[in-house]
Amino acid sequence: MSPLSPLAGEARAQWRRRAPVVQPTARTRGADPRLIAQAERVAGDRFQFETLSQRGVRVYSVGRPIPATLRAIDGGLAELFAVAQRRGYRQRLNYSDYTVFIGRPDRQRDSSGAYSPDIAVGAAQYRGSVYDKGGYVFAAGMVLSMEPGAFLIAEHERDFGRVANVARYEGEHIVLYHNDRRLYQQTYDHSRGGSHPIIQ
Ligand SMILES: [Zn+2]
Repeated sequence: MSPLSPLAGEARAQWRRRAPVVQPTARTRGADPRLIAQAERVAGDRFQFETLSQRGVRVYSVGRPIPATLRAIDGGLAELFAVAQRRGYRQRLNYSDYTVFIGRPDRQRDSSGAYSPDIAVGAAQYRGSVYDKGGYVFAAGMVLSMEPGAFLIAEHERDFGRVANVARYEGEHIVLYHNDRRLYQQTYDHSRGGSHPIIQ
């Protein structure tokens, strides 16, 4: 992860607010306004589209979601649920328990030049952890809420295997929160180890 100055993050947010508004095609059924407001604040995005994945994950996105992205989210969660079931977990193992926000990436490439759409998030989320460098940090994904289970990822145009991994990994924190609180506490911010996948 590389730090991004707060100023750059603010400039981006300003630019976003001037971006043209796309006419929403969203079906606004059962949307949780507080969750959406929180996601918009964290991401600095407007989530204009609401979609259900084939398996029933609720997806809010800044652009029309690519079918491969939706399949990847389902696939990543399928793998997570299978692992969780093998460990005897029972809670929050339904696709409909999850809401995924797909935001604009704040970078397309990581420091080595590899395709890596990531989001810049306020380091306050990671205060006291190894990721707290002041200002912003880049992340592949970020948990927004445990109840309902919700996380944010960046829009991808390719490398959908990465999308599947991010869904599996962010979902992992939510599954642990509801099924194994001790392991959740040990691994939630990765400052004491527990890199993904945490459960296998
Ligand atoms: Zn994590």
